[in-house]
Amino acid sequence: MEAECPQSARFASNPKTFPVAQIVAWNACAGFCIVPAVRRLVLQLYRLAVLVSIVWLLREHAVRMRVESLRPVTLAEAQALFPAAVRLEIDAGDRGGWHVLGANGTKLGYVLQTAPVSDSIIGYCGWTNTLVAFDLALHVVGVRIRASQDTAEHVDDIRKDRGFLKTWNGRPWDEVAGRTPQEEGIEGVSGASMTSLAIAEGIVRRLRAADKAAKVAPVPFRAGVRDIGLAVVVIAGIVFAFFGTHRRPWLRRGFQGIVIGYVGLINADLIAQTLLVGWSQNGVPWRTAPGLVLMLAAALIVPWSTGRPLYCQHLCPHGHAQEWLARITPKRWRIALPKKFAAGLRWLPLLTLAMILGVVMLVLPAELAAFEPFDAYAIRTAGWVTISIAIGGLVAACFVPMAYCHYGCPTGALLNFIRSHGPEDRFGRREIGALFLVVLAFALSHAGVHFHEWLRSDASDWL
Ligand code: SF4
Repeated sequence: MEAECPQSARFASNPKTFPVAQIVAWNACAGFCIVPAVRRLVLQLYRLAVLVSIVWLLREHAVRMRVESLRPVTLAEAQALFPAAVRLEIDAGDRGGWHVLGANGTKLGYVLQTAPVSDSIIGYCGWTNTLVAFDLALHVVGVRIRASQDTAEHVDDIRKDRGFLKTWNGRPWDEVAGRTPQEEGIEGVSGASMTSLAIAEGIVRRLRAADKAAKVAPVPFRAGVRDIGLAVVVIAGIVFAFFGTHRRPWLRRGFQGIVIGYVGLINADLIAQTLLVGWSQNGVPWRTAPGLVLMLAAALIVPWSTGRPLYCQHLCPHGHAQEWLARITPKRWRIALPKKFAAGLRWLPLLTLAMILGVVMLVLPAELAAFEPFDAYAIRTAGWVTISIAIGGLVAACFVPMAYCHYGCPTGALLNFIRSHGPEDRFGRREIGALFLVVLAFALSHAGVHFHEWLRSDASDWL
């Protein structure tokens, strides 16, 4: 508080000031000093809320994609088997279907579709996606064909057949999953036997896949040499962030060398959008990669709670590599970017984050690693786009110091966003940009299904 209000501090600590006046000055000033402190707290809570919202939207979207597979079951489909249904609720568990709810949220039953498991089961010439409905005791109450790429006449014959789709009615989940169509002696519909056997195969495999997922035992915790090494580097980074290097440049250079060589080139343990999105969607692998989890936790918690930039200043191999290049290249190479051009470039990270959200939420066939240079440190598996961005960023750093950090890095922008910026912290462009990302993520997560429906219908117009 003293640091925020130098006048008050000076007045209160003046030995000539009468002691009571000191107390009055402190209390009177505290009312004003508390405003920036509260403002900072509100801003930090806002930033945390933005981050949590985006993570939650990514997670919710991933669960929906796993269950719906871009082909969500509609209420009308469920009502054909449960006439009292008023709502469907996604089951995020291993069964991957929907709870069918009636009035007041009472559970009526359960439905699932065989896609995407059945997508690889070809009948005569294509897949068939089937809806399977269960009662509350998980006995089958009905089977319906949802969509098919098989011959339309064959699918029609199956729909019209009096008995085939009732084959499983009344039978419990475990019994259906336990025996193959051959073991069951299912013969299929005459004239459409391949399509009907593919449907039967699809149902059995879909139920078995859910059972298999439920039986997977959690991976035991393991912390190897790599995790311990990374933890040591992270702790050293935290020490440097809080206590500095006490005017010993060799200490910082040596540490940077370790970060570039060990964290970057040997382990390729970098924080990147692929990692942030993947962990948001699928969970944090604290049992199998505790070192990396510790690094991400520190990279978020330290700047959020203390305002000290940890990852970008101390732990990022690409940041250090740029800093080294800026030091060893001649000063005459420096280029001063025109102010307006530089101001425009500063929007690039936000734009990149928006594009990444677009790719994830619309399930577009693009590789997230191609938006950043960090995968280039795993040189053997890196794609050429990633390598090009990495090399481009390093070349740019020779002319404009830390060019990629300032004008191109979405991960750096994210880590910088959550950082408290001290007494001068304000609700500004970054905060508005972050809110825009939350709204965009929300809109795109609900637009994804319609977008793909539109793509499919548009494609069929051309056939
Ligand atoms: S801005 Fe990006 S490249 Fe630069 S140090 Fe931070 S994470 Fe690394």
